[in-house]
Amino acid sequence: MHIARPLSGPKSIGPLLDEQGATDGGRVALLSVDGRSMSRAELAQYTRHVALHLARLGIVRADRVAVVAPNSVDMAVALLGVMRSAACAPLNPLYTQAEIEYFFADLQVRALVVTVGSPPLAREVAMRQGIPVIEVGAATYAAADRAAESDLPPAAEDDIALVLHTSGTTSRPKQVPLSHANLAASMANIAASLQLTPEDRALNVMPLFHIHGLLAGLLAPLASGASVVCPPSLQLPAFFDWLERFGVTWYSAVPTMHQAIVAVAPANGAPANGAPRLRFVRSSSAALAPSTLAQLEALFGCPVIEAYGMTEATHQMASNPLPPRARKPGSVGLPAGPEVAIIDADGNLLPAGTRGEIAIRGDNVMRAYHGNPDANRSAFTSGWFRTGDEGCFDADGYLSITGRLKEMINRGGEKITPREIDEALLAHPDVAQAVAFALPHPTLGEDVAAAVVPHEGRQVSAEALREFLFERLADFKVPSEVIVLSQIPKGPTGKVQRIGMAERLSAHRQHAFVEPRDAVEAILAQAWAEVLGIDAIGMDDNFFALGCDSLKAMRAVAGIEAMLPVELPATDIFRHPTVAGLAGRVRLMLGPDVIAELERLLDEVAPEVAAVQADRSLDEHAT
Ligand code: AMP
Repeated sequence: MHIARPLSGPKSIGPLLDEQGATDGGRVALLSVDGRSMSRAELAQYTRHVALHLARLGIVRADRVAVVAPNSVDMAVALLGVMRSAACAPLNPLYTQAEIEYFFADLQVRALVVTVGSPPLAREVAMRQGIPVIEVGAATYAAADRAAESDLPPAAEDDIALVLHTSGTTSRPKQVPLSHANLAASMANIAASLQLTPEDRALNVMPLFHIHGLLAGLLAPLASGASVVCPPSLQLPAFFDWLERFGVTWYSAVPTMHQAIVAVAPANGAPANGAPRLRFVRSSSAALAPSTLAQLEALFGCPVIEAYGMTEATHQMASNPLPPRARKPGSVGLPAGPEVAIIDADGNLLPAGTRGEIAIRGDNVMRAYHGNPDANRSAFTSGWFRTGDEGCFDADGYLSITGRLKEMINRGGEKITPREIDEALLAHPDVAQAVAFALPHPTLGEDVAAAVVPHEGRQVSAEALREFLFERLADFKVPSEVIVLSQIPKGPTGKVQRIGMAERLSAHRQHAFVEPRDAVEAILAQAWAEVLGIDAIGMDDNFFALGCDSLKAMRAVAGIEAMLPVELPATDIFRHPTVAGLAGRVRLMLGPDVIAELERLLDEVAPEVAAVQADRSLDEHAT
């Protein structure tokens, strides 16, 4: 049995991988769900090959190299290879062309690394801009096997390994440069909190372009000598099969993923012998409801460890401890790496039990935002980094998050800069004012909405504005609700304030209940009412306002496809989040003949349904 030891290896990615490749190089490092695996020696060799390829293109350490790919073993090789020779900037593969162009320019990207499975858009933008593109895949590995390659000088601890973007309070996303030393500190902190050993096998379902997936999902397990299964995403119920097939000992995810896992679990419950399948489950990036924590613990028969992370902290700041120490549902645990303090607006430290801003300092904390002196001035106070989260410590030293002082929207763990949505809306010729804000949501925690005022004498519909945004922003940033108003209500200070906007606009979000007007609307309404667990849905009611999330959207698609001869992409639900809107799409897919047949069938069954309902109501009166 391996005992977890504090990590003390090299403090930069290249030497770390080389050391792992040299000691016990035959051990598995990465696995894909189709059964392929890569040893530690291969991982060291292939990442070195990618790094040397970049060096031959003239890329130097300070250069930024973008990686745009879906999660996979190839993407992990691409990321680690880039970090060995330059500053790696992973970008969400779902970004629109406008977003890719923005990030390429903002980062001054010198090269793009993709994998065989990457969507073509980023590659096309790079080619148009004369940015060299490298593809990582089987051909890379074959070439690396043939090549006799020189060594690459290792990065210094202060060299930048990763550049990620984070939500900005008043402007576009800010650049967070993270050094090799930041990464090394964070890997050691995570490995220590979770007592990771080479015997562990992680399953990474978190996107590898986000700090949570990069550090907790990939780097901390690799640095501990453990192996990582790299599926393309969380797929249910396949997830349960992967746990079994690969002997997974833990996974880390956001609460919405845990909820989805719990929701499909009854048919895929714990192993028959009742033995815990996992050593622990980890949750981070958004608040985990104590009820979800309890359900997960019952399902897997293992502790659920909630942690608190942030891009600027190279992920982990606090974590609940493993048994025998107590974990506290609703708390993000004990400081787990950096020093954590609660400070007031002037930067004074506050005692336990007092609410204030959570501040951190330590080796895992970024040195500064890139090229943003204003943001740095307000983020750092006497050496402490202000997180923008509000919290307090209890008497046992456990931290709870009690609120948020920054304007970021946390949509089920996906962070959104409201200002970015405002700007995209203001680019519409009819829009005079726009304010994006967070709406409370039962499973996502928060959803995105926006209030819009058109220019005088102009009219604009919420649908048209959402269509406009889908062209400019990745789908997850597009507000589920756009509310068109003549004036945006002011907050208590007389200024337009995002915080509290949901309550101020609650009256505007109410609208009349509209009954189904044809067979298509009636069928869709039935499917949605079932999925959302409500008696009836109005034709203009917003699915997301009624609690829809991606899991429920998938279930609704399955329900609709079982009743109608259509193949509905889940994206249609996000683009048309009302029965009336979705019916428009579905009618186009069905065509007039099928619709006429549906109307006829509905007319036929209507009297029977009415009779059954009448019988039922008579029975109810009789009892
Ligand atoms: P990111 O930079 O995307 O990792 O987002 C960091 C932010 O996510 C933090 O500043 C918090 O607002 C939020 N966050 C992270 N972990 C938790 C948690 N366990 N509970 C509540 N919010 C969290």
